[in-house]
Amino acid sequence: MKVLIVGGGGREHALAWAIARSEKVSKVYVAPGNGGTATMGSCVENVALGSTDVDGLLQFAVSESVDLTVVGPEQPLEAGIVDLFAEAGKKVFGPTKSAAQLETSKVFAKDFMSRHEIPTASYEVFRDYDSAKDFLEKTTVFPQVIKASGLAAGKGVVVAETRADALQAIDDLFEKRVFGGAADEVVIESFLAGQEASVFAITDGTQYRFFLPSQDHKRIGEGDTGKNTGGMGAYAPAPLVSEEVMKKVEERVIVPTLEGMREEGMPYTGFLYIGLMIDNGEPSVVEYNARLGDPEAQVVLPLMQTELVEALEASLDGNLGEIAFEMKPLSATTVVLASEGYPGSYEKGKVIEIDPKLQEHDSVMVFHAGTVLEGGMLKTSGGRVLSVTALAPTLGESIALAYSALSGVAFDGSYYRRDIGAKALA
Ligand code: ATP
Repeated sequence: MKVLIVGGGGREHALAWAIARSEKVSKVYVAPGNGGTATMGSCVENVALGSTDVDGLLQFAVSESVDLTVVGPEQPLEAGIVDLFAEAGKKVFGPTKSAAQLETSKVFAKDFMSRHEIPTASYEVFRDYDSAKDFLEKTTVFPQVIKASGLAAGKGVVVAETRADALQAIDDLFEKRVFGGAADEVVIESFLAGQEASVFAITDGTQYRFFLPSQDHKRIGEGDTGKNTGGMGAYAPAPLVSEEVMKKVEERVIVPTLEGMREEGMPYTGFLYIGLMIDNGEPSVVEYNARLGDPEAQVVLPLMQTELVEALEASLDGNLGEIAFEMKPLSATTVVLASEGYPGSYEKGKVIEIDPKLQEHDSVMVFHAGTVLEGGMLKTSGGRVLSVTALAPTLGESIALAYSALSGVAFDGSYYRRDIGAKALA
């Protein structure tokens, strides 16, 4: 079986790693991939096609007789890759363009949750500066959370502590147009207190199975300080998401989401991410993503006992509920190594040294993100360069192993947070 993975980050390296482990799989193509997927051996090959070149990707899948395409990031979903492949009769795993609106339009997602009584922050939608300003001038409670409705690479959200900050945020979105058309519509919502966690499901639209709940670390600095990033590390399972919380997420979020999407004529298939705020054991939805998170994929996929390919095929065949969907009785931690300066500007092209002994360790995986292979040498090419995942019987041991393995990776100006997982241990 030949599989094409669309994307080139750490999540896609983890997908390639998980998919290539299956004996059924003879070839994994990754478009465009990275330095890590370029060095996995002859079974895995990078393809020089961008992840939003959906026509090029379809042509490639047809000409190479690819049996299954798995979409990693959100941009190709918004570009309609799943609809295009399905129309051409090519098997593809992910939501259609309309179902992906759960992520690609925050206005759609909020209105959908409101229609289906799914717990989330109260909100208003604005389409121009003046009405948003009127609203903020009458509001007495802060913080308020200001969000560009469209995709903004995780940067379109401001938690405004004061009215002045909130007015600045709507000025940036409506007047300065810092996110262009992604902020034609703006959501202003109430602030949710609590702790964040990520729950991922795989679904065929009706049946669903859960991965282990995880927690990301969005801020650049230790103690959750400084700027927001794409994610600096993650661990799973997250003890915050107890069985009781998970039951509530299932009843109050997953079931009504899948039912609602079916009722509205756009059944949701693929990976579904539920970003949660949990306060005193009560979950509310912060956001949906139409894909696996990055870096959460780098912990939830290595924790799967069941082969990912088996789950993907079951999902496409409509019998996801019938397969064993088992997780290893372990914990996983991943720590992201970033370029100095990230999430601001940073230099590229630094040579990366990885101790070959790390590859011999069954419980340690190095997942690349911003790396390239140039003249046989691995070099940095992005802000988040790679992440080191470790599996161990307890969370504490997996954290310790991830950090000790990290000492086997070096490049000039590398930065990482030293407190990944610390919150859960405390
Ligand atoms: P990403 O795609 O990177 O996850 P995003 O731009 O789609 O992010 P959200 O996840 O909606 O945006 O918000 C980003 C972050 O802002 C959240 O992870 C959370 O920390 C904070 N946030 C968003 N909405 C709220 C809210 N209502 N109350 C408190 N914090 C919030």
